[in-house]
Amino acid sequence: MKRVYNFSAGPAILPVPVLQKIQEEMLSYNGSGMSVMEMSHRSAVYSEIIEEAERLLRSLMEIPDNYKVLFLQGGASLQFTMIPLNLAESKKIAFIDTGVWSKKAIEEAQKIQGMDVKILASSKDRNYQYIPEDVTIPTDIDYLHITTNNTIEGTEYQAIPKQSGVDIVADMSSDILATSYNVSDFGLIYAGAQKNIGPAGLTIVIIREDLLERKIEKLGSMLDYSVMAKNGSMYNTPPTFAIYVAKLVFEWLESIGGVSEMEKINRKKSGLLYDYLDSSALFSSPVDKGSRSLTNIPFVTGDEALDKKFAKEAAAAGFVNLDGHRSVGGMRASLYNAFPIEGVEALVAFME
Ligand code: PMP
Repeated sequence: MKRVYNFSAGPAILPVPVLQKIQEEMLSYNGSGMSVMEMSHRSAVYSEIIEEAERLLRSLMEIPDNYKVLFLQGGASLQFTMIPLNLAESKKIAFIDTGVWSKKAIEEAQKIQGMDVKILASSKDRNYQYIPEDVTIPTDIDYLHITTNNTIEGTEYQAIPKQSGVDIVADMSSDILATSYNVSDFGLIYAGAQKNIGPAGLTIVIIREDLLERKIEKLGSMLDYSVMAKNGSMYNTPPTFAIYVAKLVFEWLESIGGVSEMEKINRKKSGLLYDYLDSSALFSSPVDKGSRSLTNIPFVTGDEALDKKFAKEAAAAGFVNLDGHRSVGGMRASLYNAFPIEGVEALVAFME
């Protein structure tokens, strides 16, 4: 069976050994006589899976003990609403606007009655091609929200903004586990799973324990982090199969040496493509050099018709999902953890 080089921004490529393991365990997981999809989330055999998934994630990200790990649903998008409901007790929050996803997070927060939403900086003036630096952060806010990696625009923070007394909330959907972060620099981290973690349908939230009780009012249980934390992400049926796949992805990541080794490989992968783009007479990167993403790399020829022709010919040659997001055009190569370095080498040779 031939597998293509899949540059999808998400749902995205998964490691082949993980897919093979799923196949192997599909009909009978660990001698249980059933698939993980068929078992009760409250069974002993499933408890082991979710507990191991959490243990591995804690170890990979070196998550301190005073942080809870939650396995939720609703995508990263539900967090745009859950975070202000749960954390904005004084209804004053701030954002840095770095693209489509941070803009959506801002718009959802603005829908909450009485919420004072400050936009401290924006890179909209130049089509979100850079990350604003030296932003002044007020101290009378409940938190500052950032998007560490902007999946569509291809930018990434090279340093996390800091202000003593202000919690940083980070949407890490497209660079979680691709690069090392210090969890204690954040009050809350969240990520949809469908890029570096596993299948769609699972959202990871990592939250410092003292933030569990800062909600603005009584919340419905499914919207309340404290309910989810108290019930070990099992207040209702969690996305059992997605958590199982995440566990396998975490095992795979651990087997190749964890996040620091992965980051080295990712830097090699992205370096190959950026170096080529910087030397090419035909292709270029539209993003400022100091703000470039490790995982999502947009590129253009400067001629829309030629971009389309390239993406089409690339797809025919086995390089699929290279079209840029519909809002920005051009091409985009997403090089998440599971994307092999040989695929980048082959792409560069094809572009050449
Ligand atoms: N934030 C970022 C940075 C994303 O890339 C995405 C999805 N591509 C989202 C949020 C939305 O995620 P979901 O589809 O899981 O709601």
